[in-house]
Amino acid sequence: MTTMTQSSNKNHAHFVKQDDSSKVLSYGDHQNSPIKRPTKRVGILGGGTAGSTIAIRLAALGLETYLFEKKKSLIDGPPMCHLHAGGNLYREIPDEDCVALLKQCIDILRLYPHTIDVRPTVFAVPTRDEGLPEDLLPRLDILTEAYQELIEQDANNKVLGEPEDYYQLYSHEQLLELSEREQVEVPSTVDEWVIPVAKYLDLNKVKFPLIVVQEYGWNIFRLAASAQLALEEYDHAHVFTDTTVQKVVPVDCENCTNADHHVTKWRIDYQQANDSQAESIEVDYLVNACGFRTGVIDDMVGVEVTRMVEFKSSYVTHWGDAGGQIPEIIVYGQRGTPEGMAQLTPYPGGYFQIHGMSKAITLFDDGLVASGTDSAQPKLPQQYVHYIEDGWDKAPLQARSQQAIEYVAEFVPTFNSARTVGNALYGGQQIPGEDDTLRVADVSLYSNIRYARAENVKASSTLIAADQIVTELTTLGLIQNDTPMNRSRYAHEWSYLTHNDGLAVDKVARVLAEQRGFPIAMADVNHSIREAALDDLSPAGV
Ligand SMILES: Cc1cc2nc3c(=O)[nH]c(=O)nc-3n(C[C@H](O)[C@H](O)[C@H](O)COP(=O)(O)OP(=O)(O)OC[C@H]3O[C@@H](n4cnc5c(N)ncnc54)[C@H](O)[C@@H]3O)c2cc1C
Repeated sequence: MTTMTQSSNKNHAHFVKQDDSSKVLSYGDHQNSPIKRPTKRVGILGGGTAGSTIAIRLAALGLETYLFEKKKSLIDGPPMCHLHAGGNLYREIPDEDCVALLKQCIDILRLYPHTIDVRPTVFAVPTRDEGLPEDLLPRLDILTEAYQELIEQDANNKVLGEPEDYYQLYSHEQLLELSEREQVEVPSTVDEWVIPVAKYLDLNKVKFPLIVVQEYGWNIFRLAASAQLALEEYDHAHVFTDTTVQKVVPVDCENCTNADHHVTKWRIDYQQANDSQAESIEVDYLVNACGFRTGVIDDMVGVEVTRMVEFKSSYVTHWGDAGGQIPEIIVYGQRGTPEGMAQLTPYPGGYFQIHGMSKAITLFDDGLVASGTDSAQPKLPQQYVHYIEDGWDKAPLQARSQQAIEYVAEFVPTFNSARTVGNALYGGQQIPGEDDTLRVADVSLYSNIRYARAENVKASSTLIAADQIVTELTTLGLIQNDTPMNRSRYAHEWSYLTHNDGLAVDKVARVLAEQRGFPIAMADVNHSIREAALDDLSPAGV
């Protein structure tokens, strides 16, 4: 990987001046070593989960990838904490979307194994809710069957434990019994995981059975570290951090006013922080993965599209009284009401990330906005853009964090002793179309203009998005079909996994957590994927 930050770009790139306002990197100019082969270039705008994963996938095929990220490091946008391996957080989405999320998450887990915290999730239906736990059982059976089928297709898909253990039910009596048992600091069986739930959850406020599912934790710092390490594998993966894309222009159709034409090359104008002059590069294919700002690029490209954008936040707290590791706890509720879902996500060191799907906690007044007829970019209120760009103001952050603690304490009363940490994991999330319950979305392709837009409502959709772009590049004749390199992806033979173990990820993730102002302990996981399972995930012969 060549990393082009403000301090290092001059060492790596050799630019040719094309006009007064910009410098254009053309074929043969790269790295002072003329490229003789007709290697195709892909420009990827936005280094979140989508852009980074697409860059890894394309670089693994030998393409010259140019990844632009305005932040100082990759994957530093809206967070993730939960690997939606079954989508059970969302009672309202169709079963087929849950199966799609299960498949995507297994795939993602095999690409980024060191990012996962292996601990179950407990789902509870509160007594105040109209739903019943039993309503979820048919879907859980569908998911168990789907998981079994995936294992039959490829034994290495068995990354969530045995299919028959995918979910388990706990009656009131079983919980009362478990509440009498001594808590185990490092649980190893599902019963042991459920002991603290039996002790701490207010059992008078939930319906039975409780449902325990093998949906794991997903760590953003480790994901950022893994993506960075993966891209470092490839000389032809060029990563520009601290760099904002200002403009994209069709090279062979510069004066076109709409997208109904043929483009074979794009020019990307970008500005690196602290560099007074804009620079440019020409690419054969353009991928827009700008997250909640995808509409800005859509407008430049000239495609009309509708979407929504939502500002959401979760809060980091510390709870010293958990008595050991505990599972993630979800208490269902109707989104957007004062009784929306509560989510308590554990990290090492006693840290917890909290969501509460009410407007006092995770959701915001006017936080969900739609695009209009004049622009593909929905306009978030300035206050939220300010939070995203400059960080939260202390007072509202403190107030929301405290409310989040109280929200969870309604169901986990001893959580009242938790304290705020003064930080949040938050951001703008894009939702294509007009259905705000959509949870599975990936990529839109515009073949005639060699343009793709990746929009991931859930971070786990990114590898599928990358696959669709690979298929498109094949159809366009920009890469060859059915190469061994492409087949490696389906065997999950990612070269970075051969020599980057959990310890290598630890190191980078801790630096990133610290740089971003979070407790270093949050860069770790309580339970990594077992080494034995990892051996299966590593490329053969390693
Ligand atoms: C509070 C919250 C909790 C969430 N929890 C989960 C979860 O548990 N599990 C899950 O799977 N998903 C979760 N999500 C959703 C998840 O965060 C998103 O699906 C995912 O981050 C989207 O990734 P992305 O790469 O598409 O977009 P982003 O991560 O937003 O990446 C886009 C990138 O583009 C960059 N960019 C934009 N414009 C430019 C430009 N002009 N030049 C250069 N760079 C640019 C931005 O800086 C950004 O880094 C959560 C979201 C929120 C808000």
